Amino acid sequence: AIPLVVAISTSASANNGLLIRNRTSFENSRKINAVVFDKTGTLTLGKYGVSRYDNLHSKNDKKDILQWASALEKESEHPIAQGIVAKANDEGIEIPDAKNVENLTGEGIKGTVNGKDIKIVSPAYLEKNNIKVDQLEKPDETETLVYLLVDDEATGFIALSDTLRESAKEAVDKLKEMEIQCYILTGDNETVTKSIASKLNLDGYFANVMPDKKQDKIKELQNKGLFVAMVGDGINDAPALAQANVGIAIGSGTDVAAETADIILVDSDPADVVKLINFGKATYKKMI
Ligand code: ADP
Ligand code: MG
Repeated sequence: AIPLVVAISTSASANNGLLIRNRTSFENSRKINAVVFDKTGTLTLGKYGVSRYDNLHSKNDKKDILQWASALEKESEHPIAQGIVAKANDEGIEIPDAKNVENLTGEGIKGTVNGKDIKIVSPAYLEKNNIKVDQLEKPDETETLVYLLVDDEATGFIALSDTLRESAKEAVDKLKEMEIQCYILTGDNETVTKSIASKLNLDGYFANVMPDKKQDKIKELQNKGLFVAMVGDGINDAPALAQANVGIAIGSGTDVAAETADIILVDSDPADVVKLINFGKATYKKMI
């Protein structure tokens, strides 16, 4: 049987934007002393707009880059994909159908467009696979950069910007007042990650982290004796959500994240993490 105080708190939480899937984790949330936030879709809205794009080879037309990219991205649900397809539509580009499309989770996407082998990937992917680019683009501090590869050769780039969620700063400020450490963890580049970390006054950041390595960063913090909550929205966050002492999913995120998490922030408001911890504390006091 569920103790009465817990039952009452659980229904009170439901009215405050929290959906509790795991009662023990809810009770344990009083012990959280570090919160790790995913970037895209968690601290940010996950609504990307293309700020600029270009070819790196004069043999292609600039518009080819957007056309090939949008052909792949129209098969994807990633926030970057939606930004690229919207831009192609804005520019009146006819989007061809791609074949053999496969997600490279946390790194990009690949497939065949007009008979060509096309990939769209992160700078980290280029480095990992030793793919050289003559002129590496420098992202400004709001930009996420992806490269377009034809036959594994970098032939173009697309830069996109996302927007911080309005309550991100409030969430971090309140957590820090409660002496809870705050971190950002993302597969995105270091420039944009560092800029958000400094804007929000975070205790640290982890950038260029592949999905299978996100959980290792959680373990690192746990090994320092921290009781860690992870907040995320993506398929790529699921292993880290499972590893965390308390896994928290953003309501607008993917089903995989929601199914892995202990708690769901129904209103997709990162500041509700503060409510969760306060509820956890209040519930515990009533139990003892
Ligand atoms: P985050 O960790 O911030 O949630 P992801 O793990 O989803 O970000 O993505 C990490 C990086 O992988 C992105 O910044 C991008 O470079 C690349 N990437 C992932 N999916 C795609 C895609 N569909 N198209 C282009 N790039 C992608
Ligand atoms: Mg995300």
